[in-house]
Amino acid sequence: MDPTPKLRMTTQRQVIMEELRKVKTHPTAGELCQMVRERLPRISLGTVYRNLDILSRSGLIQKIDVAGQEMRFDGDIRDHYHLRCLDCGRVVDVEMELLQGLDEQVAAESGWDIFGHRLEFVGSCGDCRSQRTVN
Ligand SMILES: [Zn+2]
Ligand SMILES: [Zn+2]
Repeated sequence: MDPTPKLRMTTQRQVIMEELRKVKTHPTAGELCQMVRERLPRISLGTVYRNLDILSRSGLIQKIDVAGQEMRFDGDIRDHYHLRCLDCGRVVDVEMELLQGLDEQVAAESGWDIFGHRLEFVGSCGDCRSQRTVN
C-alpha cells in the first residue's frame, strides 16, 4: 500500500515550489501568487491555492494552519518552530533544536500514537516593538 502516490510535477507546481523554497517569509497563497506571476504571468490564485494544497498533502511543503489566521506556507519541511508577531502578522523560524521528550510525554499521557508536534510562539517582533516605543 502506497499512501502517497507519486505526484506528477507540472511546470506550475514546480515553479510554485521553487518560489516558496526561495523565501523564509512563510507567504500566504496571495503573496506567493504575486511571486509566481513573475514567471507565470497568467496563473490564477485558485490554481496556486489548489497546487499548494496538493504539494502540502504530498509532504513537499508545509502548511502553517492556525485557527483564526490566514493560512501560510513554508518550503522548509524540516520540523521547526515558528514565531508569529501579533502586531504585523509576520511569521519567522525559531533557530533552536526541537524540544526532546515532548512527544513521548504526550503519548504516555494520552495513550495516542504521536507523530510529532507543531509549536508556534506568539509575541511582538523587534520592528513593531521599536515602533511602539517611538510613538
Ligand atoms: Zn511585527
Ligand atoms: Zn518555517
